[in-house]
Amino acid sequence: MRRKVIAGNWKMYKNVDESAKLINELKDRLKDLSDTVEVILCPPFTSLGIASQLLRASRLKLGAQNMHFQDDGAYTGEISGQMLRFIGCEYVILGHSERRTYFHESDEIINRKVKKALASNLKPIVCVGETLDERERGLTEVVVTKQAGGVLDGIPLEDLRRLVIAYEPVWAIGTGKNATPQQANDVHKLIRGLISKTYDRSAGDGLIIQYGGSVKPENAVDLLSQPDIDGALVGGASLQAESFAAIVKAGVR
Ligand code: PEP
Repeated sequence: MRRKVIAGNWKMYKNVDESAKLINELKDRLKDLSDTVEVILCPPFTSLGIASQLLRASRLKLGAQNMHFQDDGAYTGEISGQMLRFIGCEYVILGHSERRTYFHESDEIINRKVKKALASNLKPIVCVGETLDERERGLTEVVVTKQAGGVLDGIPLEDLRRLVIAYEPVWAIGTGKNATPQQANDVHKLIRGLISKTYDRSAGDGLIIQYGGSVKPENAVDLLSQPDIDGALVGGASLQAESFAAIVKAGVR
């Protein structure tokens, strides 16, 4: 059986003090966490140092929200995968729709980042998902198939087990409007099928696919009990210990 993986994407929220407070609260609320669920916190870059220290003896894992596709160089304002690894990150979110929209990241750029993350010994959480307009025009399958193929191009089978896909319909991110469990599960099944076809059946069966888009304590149980939903990528509700811990606990059930 696949484990559940719940990640909190803090986006551009929480300074160092606020991050430390939230991490300490989460450590307390999640101290008896079951082995069947993996929890990842993705604070902003400036909080990774303190987060790494505070999470040292904890089962909660650390992730970043982005990285560059080069190891180093004259790229003002950028951070490399090796730097993230050095500071203690195990995961990195790549291709979030906010990166695609505001920073013009294409599938090709995201693919280069995925390859570099894997080469840097990081586990990428790679996001795909359609816009509202695309869903309404019946293009969800086409868009998700193209994105998944693009971001995973050239990734060898043996690296797939270190990678998580997050299905995040853009219309559900930060809007309070989540996909129904059935809508989400249908797309997860599509992605699993694509992976089985491109690689093999066991790669598809083993792939962890998270759902993201307005996950809250009130909808988490229904979403996480779907057969093809293996976890959640949580934005807004990951900024408070109470709501994030409740979502994690929904993943245990
Ligand atoms: C996200 O940032 O990936 C996200 C899903 O945000 P929210 O949970 O706020 O919709």
